[in-house]
Amino acid sequence: MAVIGITGGIGSGKSTFCGFLGELLPAEIFDADRVARDVLANDEEVREAVVRDVCPQAYGGDGLPDREVLRKVVFTDPAARARLEAIVHPRVRASWREKAEGFRCSGRYFLVDIPLLYETRAEGFFDEVVVVGCAPETQLERVCARGVERDQAEAILRAQLPTLEKAARADRVVWNDGSLEGLRSQARELVSRWLGFSPAERE
Ligand code: ADP
Repeated sequence: MAVIGITGGIGSGKSTFCGFLGELLPAEIFDADRVARDVLANDEEVREAVVRDVCPQAYGGDGLPDREVLRKVVFTDPAARARLEAIVHPRVRASWREKAEGFRCSGRYFLVDIPLLYETRAEGFFDEVVVVGCAPETQLERVCARGVERDQAEAILRAQLPTLEKAARADRVVWNDGSLEGLRSQARELVSRWLGFSPAERE
């Protein structure tokens, strides 16, 4: 069917929106952030490269990525961040691209939830790109509610392309400053356009 990229800044509501789409469509959702975390935790080559090229303390005594250390490195050292991304992103991309091919000739949608879609110049690969956006203050509130410090949340936002720039390049824009019900109704509207009829709720 179609391969759709869903992007937007951190805390904009991408994952929530993908979940709503998944309730309305025959679809598989690929969570690029989750796969990136998997790759960091489980790929031996990645581990070696990260310790060597990004930060020797990137993994804790338990052998798992030290998210606190990595977050600090990423938001204080742009060169280290670029090295980390050069290690992780190609692997994540290879993973969703391979799966996407299978979906193009299936009856299901492949929804790729990918925060850095434009930053990694992936837009050409998708049949359609949907940007989920909201005001920066709403993003900050949502990110801080997850336990991230305000100044770190602001640094994360600064490191991403501004939402309005993403929105200007999108095929469709979903605005998520209102209620979850409002977001859900935008999901229904989008799915109606894709399918050509109003979707029934799926299990
Ligand atoms: P993203 O995937 O873009 O980082 P999420 O979908 O994980 O964002 O949403 C971030 C947080 O904000 C989650 O806790 C989610 O439940 C909440 N959230 C998202 N949209 C809304 C909304 N319209 N109203 C209230 N909370 C929301």
